[in-house]
Amino acid sequence: MQSVHHHPDDDILWHYCCGAASPGAALVVRAHIETCPHCRSGLKVFEALGGALLERIEGVAMSDAALELALARIERPAVAPPRPVKKLPAFLDGFALPPSVAAAAVRGRYWAAPGVWIAPIDTGETDRRIKTYLMYVKAGMIMPEHTHAGQEMTLMLKGSFTDKYGALAVGDFAVRTEEDSHSPAITADEDCLCLVMQTAPIVPKTWLGRILQPFARI
Ligand SMILES: [Zn+2]
Repeated sequence: MQSVHHHPDDDILWHYCCGAASPGAALVVRAHIETCPHCRSGLKVFEALGGALLERIEGVAMSDAALELALARIERPAVAPPRPVKKLPAFLDGFALPPSVAAAAVRGRYWAAPGVWIAPIDTGETDRRIKTYLMYVKAGMIMPEHTHAGQEMTLMLKGSFTDKYGALAVGDFAVRTEEDSHSPAITADEDCLCLVMQTAPIVPKTWLGRILQPFARI
């Protein structure tokens, strides 16, 4: 893989490390880490830091059942039972996906516009405003200008796009917020597939975008 240029910042990595990220955000960060040696090293530092912090917390009184529970955990098989093999939808055949994405509960896809499909992922998220999905866009297309009502995390899985913040290529991770407005242009020679988590719907800034939004459902 070509080298990755855009990474999650320390706040995002720390949130992920502590288990504080939403399921969708955790999926996008995990999938990036799977493809990024730089962030794998960063995560190890955070994990060590978390361990050191835990050791400094003063001990608390344990319940009578604590020993029994601890023994029961130790007696559990060390290797988790194999998960049932889940087949990805046929429309994802041929895509090189990070293991977390390949194991995700990808639902069917729908066409959001000519040349654009969206495949929602069920992450177990209970907040219905938070959506996680794969988005495929044909080479050479330009997405209508839009901003965001919340946070949007994007991981590029195939191809690339360029917006006013620069180019996002395979493995790159980006966060956009209410303060960012952009109109990603897909590279002319390759279709693009991204993994996206958004905490709120996008806000179209053009009439075309407003017309398309009910079909896109994002
Ligand atoms: Zn990284």
